[in-house]
Amino acid sequence: MRTPYVAGNWKMNLDRRAARDLAVAVRDHAVSGVDVGLFPALVHLDEVTRATAGSHVRVGGQNCSDEQEGAFTGEVSARMLKDIGATVALVGHSERRHVYGESDEFIARKVRRALEDGLEVMLCVGETIEERRDGRTEAVCQAQLTAGLEGLDHAALARVSVAYEPVWAIGTGETASPEQAGAVHSYLRGVLSGAFGDEVGAAMRILYGGSVKPTNAAELMAVPDIDGALVGGASLRPELFLPIIDAAS
Ligand code: PEP
Repeated sequence: MRTPYVAGNWKMNLDRRAARDLAVAVRDHAVSGVDVGLFPALVHLDEVTRATAGSHVRVGGQNCSDEQEGAFTGEVSARMLKDIGATVALVGHSERRHVYGESDEFIARKVRRALEDGLEVMLCVGETIEERRDGRTEAVCQAQLTAGLEGLDHAALARVSVAYEPVWAIGTGETASPEQAGAVHSYLRGVLSGAFGDEVGAAMRILYGGSVKPTNAAELMAVPDIDGALVGGASLRPELFLPIIDAAS
Protein backbone atom coordinates (compact mmCIF):
# COMPACT_ATOMS: atom_id res chain seq x y z
CA MET A 1 0.00 0.00 0.00
CA ARG A 2 1.38 3.40 -0.97
CA THR A 3 1.28 6.11 1.70
CA PRO A 4 -0.25 9.32 0.31
CA TYR A 5 2.22 12.16 -0.08
CA VAL A 6 1.32 15.86 -0.22
CA ALA A 7 4.07 18.39 -0.83
CA GLY A 8 4.15 22.16 -1.19
CA ASN A 9 6.40 23.82 -3.73
CA TRP A 10 6.83 27.37 -2.51
CA LYS A 11 8.86 28.43 -5.56
CA MET A 12 10.37 31.95 -5.29
CA ASN A 13 7.84 33.17 -2.74
CA LEU A 14 7.63 34.27 0.92
CA ASP A 15 10.13 36.01 3.15
CA ARG A 16 12.01 34.35 5.96
CA ARG A 17 9.43 35.03 8.64
CA ALA A 18 6.48 33.98 6.48
CA ALA A 19 8.33 30.79 5.52
CA ARG A 20 8.91 29.98 9.17
CA ASP A 21 5.31 30.71 10.16
CA LEU A 22 3.98 28.56 7.32
CA ALA A 23 6.34 25.73 8.20
CA VAL A 24 5.19 25.87 11.83
CA ALA A 25 1.53 25.78 10.75
CA VAL A 26 2.20 22.68 8.64
CA ARG A 27 4.27 21.08 11.41
CA ASP A 28 1.55 21.63 13.98
CA HIS A 29 -1.25 20.31 11.81
CA ALA A 30 -2.11 16.80 12.96
CA VAL A 31 -2.05 14.27 10.14
CA SER A 32 -2.59 10.59 10.02
CA GLY A 33 -1.25 8.32 7.31
CA VAL A 34 0.00 11.10 5.01
CA ASP A 35 3.59 12.03 4.21
CA VAL A 36 4.00 15.79 4.05
CA GLY A 37 6.78 17.66 2.29
CA LEU A 38 7.82 21.28 1.85
CA PHE A 39 10.06 22.75 -0.82
CA PRO A 40 10.98 26.26 0.33
CA ALA A 41 13.25 28.67 -1.50
CA LEU A 42 16.89 27.80 -0.92
CA VAL A 43 17.59 30.72 1.43
CA HIS A 44 14.70 29.61 3.66
CA LEU A 45 15.67 25.96 3.87
CA ASP A 46 17.70 26.33 7.03
CA GLU A 47 14.86 28.19 8.78
CA VAL A 48 12.31 25.62 7.66
CA THR A 49 14.39 22.56 8.55
CA ARG A 50 14.91 24.02 12.03
CA ALA A 51 11.22 24.81 12.44
CA THR A 52 10.19 21.29 11.45
CA ALA A 53 13.06 19.32 13.03
CA GLY A 54 11.88 16.11 14.65
CA SER A 55 8.42 16.39 13.12
CA HIS A 56 6.70 14.39 10.40
CA VAL A 57 7.44 17.10 7.81
CA ARG A 58 10.13 16.35 5.26
CA VAL A 59 11.90 19.33 3.72
CA GLY A 60 13.56 19.51 0.34
CA GLY A 61 15.36 21.68 -2.15
CA GLN A 62 13.50 22.85 -5.26
CA ASN A 63 16.58 22.00 -7.31
CA CYS A 64 20.10 20.70 -6.86
CA SER A 65 23.30 20.56 -8.86
CA ASP A 66 24.28 17.61 -11.00
CA GLU A 67 27.82 18.09 -9.70
CA GLN A 68 29.12 17.06 -6.31
CA GLU A 69 31.25 20.11 -5.50
CA GLY A 70 33.62 22.61 -7.02
CA ALA A 71 33.69 25.66 -9.24
CA PHE A 72 30.00 25.93 -10.12
CA THR A 73 29.03 29.48 -9.18
CA GLY A 74 25.45 29.84 -8.03
CA GLU A 75 24.83 26.11 -7.69
CA VAL A 76 23.95 24.14 -4.57
CA SER A 77 24.86 20.50 -4.15
CA ALA A 78 22.82 17.62 -2.81
CA ARG A 79 25.39 17.26 -0.03
CA MET A 80 24.83 20.87 1.01
CA LEU A 81 21.09 20.33 1.07
CA LYS A 82 21.54 17.22 3.19
CA ASP A 83 23.95 19.02 5.50
CA ILE A 84 21.29 21.58 6.49
CA GLY A 85 18.66 18.93 7.09
CA ALA A 86 16.90 18.58 3.75
CA THR A 87 16.04 15.00 2.85
CA VAL A 88 14.65 15.34 -0.66
CA ALA A 89 15.26 17.19 -3.91
CA LEU A 90 12.65 18.24 -6.44
CA VAL A 91 14.11 17.55 -9.86
CA GLY A 92 12.82 18.30 -13.34
CA HIS A 93 10.06 20.73 -12.40
CA SER A 94 8.52 22.14 -15.57
CA GLU A 95 9.81 25.61 -14.73
CA ARG A 96 13.33 24.16 -14.69
CA ARG A 97 12.67 22.32 -17.95
CA HIS A 98 10.92 25.12 -19.83
CA VAL A 99 12.18 28.39 -18.30
CA TYR A 100 15.78 27.26 -17.77
CA GLY A 101 16.02 24.75 -20.59
CA GLU A 102 17.02 21.72 -18.52
CA SER A 103 17.18 18.63 -20.73
CA ASP A 104 16.20 15.07 -19.86
CA GLU A 105 19.90 14.14 -19.74
CA PHE A 106 20.78 16.99 -17.37
CA ILE A 107 17.81 16.13 -15.16
CA ALA A 108 18.89 12.47 -15.10
CA ARG A 109 22.34 13.52 -13.87
CA LYS A 110 20.72 15.55 -11.07
CA VAL A 111 18.54 12.59 -10.10
CA ARG A 112 21.58 10.32 -9.85
CA ARG A 113 23.65 12.88 -7.97
CA ALA A 114 20.91 13.55 -5.42
CA LEU A 115 20.34 9.84 -4.80
CA GLU A 116 24.04 9.04 -4.59
CA ASP A 117 24.53 11.83 -2.09
CA GLY A 118 21.78 10.63 0.20
CA LEU A 119 18.63 12.52 -0.76
CA GLU A 120 15.28 11.24 -1.89
CA VAL A 121 14.08 12.57 -5.23
CA MET A 122 10.74 13.81 -6.48
CA LEU A 123 10.98 13.70 -10.28
CA CYS A 124 8.50 15.87 -12.19
CA VAL A 125 7.21 14.99 -15.64
CA GLY A 126 4.48 16.48 -17.78
CA GLU A 127 3.42 17.58 -21.22
CA THR A 128 2.77 21.05 -22.63
CA ILE A 129 -0.62 21.96 -24.05
CA GLU A 130 0.77 21.67 -27.60
CA GLU A 131 2.07 18.17 -26.86
CA ARG A 132 -1.33 17.17 -25.45
CA ARG A 133 -3.15 18.57 -28.49
CA ASP A 134 -0.77 16.65 -30.75
CA GLY A 135 -1.61 13.41 -28.93
CA ARG A 136 1.89 13.16 -27.51
CA THR A 137 1.13 13.23 -23.77
CA GLU A 138 2.07 9.61 -23.15
CA ALA A 139 5.18 9.70 -25.33
CA VAL A 140 6.49 12.87 -23.68
CA CYS A 141 5.84 11.69 -20.13
CA GLN A 142 7.26 8.25 -20.86
CA ALA A 143 10.43 9.76 -22.32
CA GLN A 144 10.90 12.13 -19.37
CA LEU A 145 10.28 9.35 -16.85
CA THR A 146 12.52 6.70 -18.36
CA ALA A 147 15.33 9.17 -19.09
CA GLY A 148 15.17 10.50 -15.54
CA LEU A 149 15.32 7.07 -13.93
CA GLU A 150 17.60 5.28 -16.38
CA GLY A 151 20.12 2.94 -14.83
CA LEU A 152 18.84 3.21 -11.25
CA ASP A 153 18.76 0.04 -9.18
CA HIS A 154 15.82 -0.98 -6.99
CA ALA A 155 17.33 0.47 -3.83
CA ALA A 156 17.66 3.86 -5.51
CA LEU A 157 14.20 3.65 -7.07
CA ALA A 158 12.72 3.06 -3.62
CA ARG A 159 13.81 6.62 -2.77
CA VAL A 160 12.11 8.20 -5.78
CA SER A 161 8.60 9.55 -6.17
CA VAL A 162 7.17 10.98 -9.37
CA ALA A 163 5.00 14.06 -9.83
CA TYR A 164 2.88 14.16 -12.97
CA GLU A 165 2.41 17.84 -13.64
CA PRO A 166 0.81 18.78 -16.95
CA VAL A 167 2.49 22.07 -17.82
CA TRP A 168 -0.82 23.57 -18.95
CA ALA A 169 -2.26 23.08 -15.46
CA ILE A 170 0.58 24.59 -13.44
CA GLY A 171 -0.29 27.96 -11.97
CA THR A 172 -3.07 28.44 -14.51
CA GLY A 173 -6.10 27.54 -12.42
CA GLU A 174 -6.83 24.87 -15.03
CA THR A 175 -6.74 21.40 -13.50
CA ALA A 176 -6.57 18.06 -15.24
CA SER A 177 -9.81 16.21 -14.60
CA PRO A 178 -9.54 13.11 -12.42
CA GLU A 179 -10.06 11.06 -15.62
CA GLN A 180 -7.31 12.87 -17.53
CA ALA A 181 -4.86 12.69 -14.64
CA GLY A 182 -5.80 9.12 -13.77
CA ALA A 183 -5.19 7.96 -17.33
CA VAL A 184 -1.66 9.38 -17.33
CA HIS A 185 -0.91 8.05 -13.85
CA SER A 186 -2.00 4.53 -14.86
CA TYR A 187 0.05 4.79 -18.01
CA LEU A 188 3.14 5.91 -16.06
CA ARG A 189 2.72 3.08 -13.57
CA GLY A 190 2.68 0.70 -16.51
CA VAL A 191 5.85 2.32 -17.84
CA LEU A 192 7.53 1.83 -14.46
CA SER A 193 6.45 -1.82 -14.34
CA GLY A 194 7.68 -2.41 -17.87
CA ALA A 195 11.03 -0.76 -17.25
CA PHE A 196 11.78 -1.90 -13.70
CA GLY A 197 9.36 -4.68 -12.84
CA ASP A 198 5.93 -4.89 -11.22
CA GLU A 199 7.29 -4.44 -7.71
CA VAL A 200 8.70 -1.01 -8.56
CA GLY A 201 5.60 -0.11 -10.56
CA ALA A 202 3.34 -0.96 -7.64
CA ALA A 203 5.47 0.74 -5.00
CA MET A 204 6.42 4.07 -6.54
CA ARG A 205 4.26 7.02 -5.57
CA ILE A 206 2.95 9.16 -8.40
CA LEU A 207 1.63 12.54 -7.27
CA TYR A 208 -0.50 14.86 -9.34
CA GLY A 209 0.38 18.55 -9.61
CA GLY A 210 -1.34 21.41 -11.38
CA SER A 211 -3.71 23.88 -9.72
CA VAL A 212 -4.62 21.53 -6.88
CA LYS A 213 -6.96 23.28 -4.44
CA PRO A 214 -9.13 22.22 -1.50
CA THR A 215 -12.07 22.08 -3.90
CA ASN A 216 -10.52 19.51 -6.27
CA ALA A 217 -7.97 17.68 -4.10
CA ALA A 218 -10.24 14.96 -2.77
CA GLU A 219 -11.62 13.86 -6.13
CA LEU A 220 -8.15 13.82 -7.70
CA MET A 221 -6.61 11.84 -4.86
CA ALA A 222 -9.52 9.40 -4.83
CA VAL A 223 -8.27 8.08 -8.18
CA PRO A 224 -6.47 4.79 -7.38
CA ASP A 225 -3.21 5.63 -9.17
CA ILE A 226 -2.98 9.19 -7.79
CA ASP A 227 -0.95 8.95 -4.60
CA GLY A 228 -1.00 12.55 -3.48
CA ALA A 229 -0.38 16.06 -4.70
CA LEU A 230 2.42 18.47 -5.44
CA VAL A 231 0.93 21.86 -4.72
CA GLY A 232 2.25 25.24 -5.81
CA GLY A 233 0.08 28.32 -5.25
CA ALA A 234 -2.25 26.77 -2.71
CA SER A 235 0.67 25.60 -0.58
CA LEU A 236 1.48 29.21 0.32
CA ARG A 237 -1.65 29.61 2.45
CA PRO A 238 -2.33 27.30 5.39
CA GLU A 239 -6.08 27.68 4.98
CA LEU A 240 -5.70 26.12 1.52
CA PHE A 241 -2.79 23.72 2.03
CA LEU A 242 -3.89 22.07 5.26
CA PRO A 243 -7.28 20.94 3.86
CA ILE A 244 -5.41 19.44 0.88
CA ILE A 245 -3.30 17.41 3.31
CA ASP A 246 -6.49 16.32 5.05
CA ALA A 247 -8.02 15.31 1.73
CA ALA A 248 -5.21 12.78 1.26
CA SER A 249 -5.81 10.92 4.50
C1 PEP B 1 3.85 23.36 -9.10
O1 PEP B 1 4.49 24.37 -9.26
O2 PEP B 1 4.44 22.30 -8.91
C2 PEP B 1 2.40 23.46 -9.13
C3 PEP B 1 1.72 22.35 -9.21
O3 PEP B 1 1.85 24.73 -9.06
P1 PEP B 1 0.29 25.10 -8.91
O4 PEP B 1 -0.28 24.23 -7.83
O5 PEP B 1 0.29 26.55 -8.54
O6 PEP B 1 -0.34 24.83 -10.23
